[in-house]
Amino acid sequence: MSVLESTATELLAELAAGNVSAAELTQTYLAQIEDHDEAIGAFLNVDAERALTQAEAIDTRRRAGAKLGLLAGLPVAVKDVLCTKGWTTTCGSRMLEHFVPPYDATVISKLKAADAVLIGKTNMDEFAMGGSTENSAFKRTHNPWALDRTPGGSSGGAAACVASNMAPLSIGTDTGGSIRQPAAFCGVTGMKPTYGRVSRYGLVAFASSLDQAGPLARTAEDVALLLEAIAGHDPLDSTSANVSTPSYTATVREPLAGLRLGVAREHFGDGLDREVDAAVREAIKVFESQGASVHEISLPHSKYAIATYYIIAPCEASSNLARYDGVHYGYRTDEKEMLAELAEERKALEAAGDRARLDALDSSLVRMYRETRSEGFGAEVKRRVMLGSYALSAGYYDAYYVKALKVRRLIREDYDAAFKDVDLIIGPTTATAAFKLGEMNEDPLTMYLQDLYTVSANLAGIAAISVPCGITGSGLPIGLQLQAAPFEEEKLLRAAHMFQRATDWHTRRPG
Ligand code: GLN
Repeated sequence: MSVLESTATELLAELAAGNVSAAELTQTYLAQIEDHDEAIGAFLNVDAERALTQAEAIDTRRRAGAKLGLLAGLPVAVKDVLCTKGWTTTCGSRMLEHFVPPYDATVISKLKAADAVLIGKTNMDEFAMGGSTENSAFKRTHNPWALDRTPGGSSGGAAACVASNMAPLSIGTDTGGSIRQPAAFCGVTGMKPTYGRVSRYGLVAFASSLDQAGPLARTAEDVALLLEAIAGHDPLDSTSANVSTPSYTATVREPLAGLRLGVAREHFGDGLDREVDAAVREAIKVFESQGASVHEISLPHSKYAIATYYIIAPCEASSNLARYDGVHYGYRTDEKEMLAELAEERKALEAAGDRARLDALDSSLVRMYRETRSEGFGAEVKRRVMLGSYALSAGYYDAYYVKALKVRRLIREDYDAAFKDVDLIIGPTTATAAFKLGEMNEDPLTMYLQDLYTVSANLAGIAAISVPCGITGSGLPIGLQLQAAPFEEEKLLRAAHMFQRATDWHTRRPG
């Protein structure tokens, strides 16, 4: 058996049969990271000793005949936005560069309870704001398929590490596409579960009504495995849904008879790359050849999705990020320097007798907030905080925020209507394959438009998955998106598996 060619599901069987130990597996992946991560830059933090200690403890318990968890011995990489007790959690931001959480996120506790081996924390756009991982304060992540291209984002590290065999499984988060878009760009399978399916406790908030953690892996089977381990009601998250978690691993191999697929004309409009279009249409035929029926549907309000998302997400971000003030935790500006500057400014204004400017001078507290936030946040985060604060300000609240909430409801109602007639909606995950690093640095609006096909699922709170469905002429992966009604992850996984049984796109690896 070759570890690196195997899926997580296959590795689990090998572990159970005693053909490989958790420690050996962990060592193999650590060696991969050692060899390849300098070029890829998927990880922000790898703690080999911690991972090996964990793996050895699992092996010892296995030898003693103990009952082990669902992921027993499998290495899992985690986006650096999930709090890990005693282990730095940066969110890709200077603000949290040295933040060591005093507790584990529920997703992390569940991974530990499932006997997974936490192999490292992955790179991301700062506070998950972005779609290329270039907004990380620490480093750029390169697409394993073409090093001059972005892996997507914000979970770029999580997708790139699976694509380049540095971990068999990873956890990302998706607020507007951040699991599905990098999965599409890196040729892996990634799911955004229904809002409320996976606990947000300990997931550092970007936009609380949209954020959701979920799995990235090579196959739908592996996504089923990881989702089963992390899903479930959590009393520590009041928005976590009180529904039971189905055994995804038990059903993922069952094909869906009489599957009704919806094709929305809004997903095939201007801007859709010709090769992506062709690959998705080919994928639809694959489903048809397996007995699925295809129905044209309409999501008439999807044309407002980007505008709606880019009001609501920044509004929530501006509120969530208010906590980074240099007082509670995180980065604080150099106070000595700041106080000295303030004293100098005061002296100069006093000497000039400039009463008006003297009265307007910051208090030392306000100056500390200002400097801390100016220095601790990167440009994109500041842009979002400003957009959000503006849209929430007294004069604009109704015109922007309240209006956006109303449109959000209409987007949800489009889906409710569609899912009366079809089981799943099928379309592209992104309009193009991975773009070049640096290509959109100067153009935030074009960057925002990248999220055209993904943000609606977050606004509506539904579940969606991205599955590899082709390779462009220049050798870049293409992603197929399937969307399902709330809590229908099982259907998504079964459909994705049906597709992967009939195709081999998910088995392709970068050179
Ligand atoms: N690209 C989107 C944004 O920048 C989505 C990010 C995400 O899902 N975290 O907001």
